[in-house]
Amino acid sequence: MPRAPGKRTPRRAPYFAVRRSRVHGRGAFALRRIRKGTRIVEYLGERVSHREADRRYQDRDSRDNHTFLFIVDARTVIDAGAGGNDARFINHSCKPNCETVIETKRVYIEAIRTIEPGEELNYDYQLARSPDDPPDADQIYACRCGHPECRGSMLWPPKKKPAQAKRAGKRPTKTRADKRRTARKRRAKTTAGR
Ligand SMILES: [Zn+2]
Repeated sequence: MPRAPGKRTPRRAPYFAVRRSRVHGRGAFALRRIRKGTRIVEYLGERVSHREADRRYQDRDSRDNHTFLFIVDARTVIDAGAGGNDARFINHSCKPNCETVIETKRVYIEAIRTIEPGEELNYDYQLARSPDDPPDADQIYACRCGHPECRGSMLWPPKKKPAQAKRAGKRPTKTRADKRRTARKRRAKTTAGR
């Protein structure tokens, strides 16, 4: 429910600050302990159609791996490149401490475990693969989250690596992202730089 301006609940210290990240550009770092389940921030930006999002970014280099687009549904994309807030600096991780939740067509970032001060916030971008991806798409969208279970790419689903899967002897497990209605980031459809 929208609240009247100036009628906000007492303001608490912010959950995170943006500073340089070793993972990618700038990142969001916890300023205090954030408990599991906390709704940390809403992902803000201009709400546009998928077609308009494509039009805006069509001239970008297809090797530019920055993503500002969030899929709300089949009609709407949030473009954090226009009127976005600090939520756009939260980086991808293959084993994240946050997830995205869509509620009443808005996207929120919530903690899926308790996060300690100083930890970088992240969630799985789940960037969709596309049939016209260049062969090195996984390199362009390389992940540097540094987690032992890093899949090496921000793209989803992971490329099958039979040898590795065999060695690990693991069956694919369902992740939280499969069970809950999480939001996916979206890549811009670029025509330049190909
Ligand atoms: Zn990773």
